[in-house]
Amino acid sequence: DGAERGSASKPGISVSSGGGSGHTFPISPSTVLKIQKGDITVWSVDRSTDAIVNAANEKMLGGGGVDGAIHRAAGPELLEACRKVPEVQPGVRCPTGEARITPAFRLPVSHVIHTVGPIYDVDKQPEVSLSNAYRNSLKLAKENNIQYIAFPAISCGVYRYPYKEASGIAISVAKEFPDAFKEVHFVLFSDELYGVWLESANELL
Ligand code: ADP
Repeated sequence: DGAERGSASKPGISVSSGGGSGHTFPISPSTVLKIQKGDITVWSVDRSTDAIVNAANEKMLGGGGVDGAIHRAAGPELLEACRKVPEVQPGVRCPTGEARITPAFRLPVSHVIHTVGPIYDVDKQPEVSLSNAYRNSLKLAKENNIQYIAFPAISCGVYRYPYKEASGIAISVAKEFPDAFKEVHFVLFSDELYGVWLESANELL
C-alpha cells in the first residue's frame, strides 16, 4: 500500500491500509494518523510489526465490549497469556493508565497491547488516566518495535467517557510520538464515534 500512503499528501483525504476506507492525516514526514470505521479484531497491516490495543480492565482476564471481541478472536491462548502477567496488587495485573503486551495468537497482528482507561464517573482525574493509557500504550509499542498500531475508543463504551473529550486526548497524545511509528490508526466501531474522531482530527491536525 505504499502508493496509497504516498498519495496522502492532502490531510484528511485518502484511503487506509489495514482494511476499509478512512481518512489520513500526516503528523510528521514519516508518520500518518488514520481514522477509520470498523472492527479492530480484523485490522492488520503486516502481521509482524503491527499491534492492536485492547480496552481491558485491571484484572486483564477478559470482559465485554471490545475486550470480549478481542479475546474471542484471539482464542483461549490470549487468556492464558494474560493470566501469566504478574499481579501488582491482588487481582490487578494492569492498573488504570498503564499498559501490558502479549502475543496476539489467532488475531491477524503480532501483538495485543492491553491498557485500562478510566471509568469516567469514578476516576478523580479521568483526563490524566486516559492520556496515560494512550501514552503508555504507545511507549510500550515503541519499545517492542511496533510500526503500525490501532486503537479503539478507549473508555468510550461502558466506562462512559464523553466522545469529544476522549477523541481530543487520543489525538493529542498520538501527536507526542511524531516519528515513532509508520501508522497510528483509530478504528471506531460506530458512525457516531467515527464522526467525532474525524471532527477532532480536523481541529487538531
Ligand atoms: P471501555 O470499558 O474502555 O469503555 P468498551 O469495550 O466498553 O471499553 O468500549 C470501548 C469502545 O470500543 C466502545 O466505543 C465500543 O463501541 C468499541 N468497540 C466494541 N467492539 C469493538 C470492535 N470489535 N472494534 C472496535 N471497537 C469496538
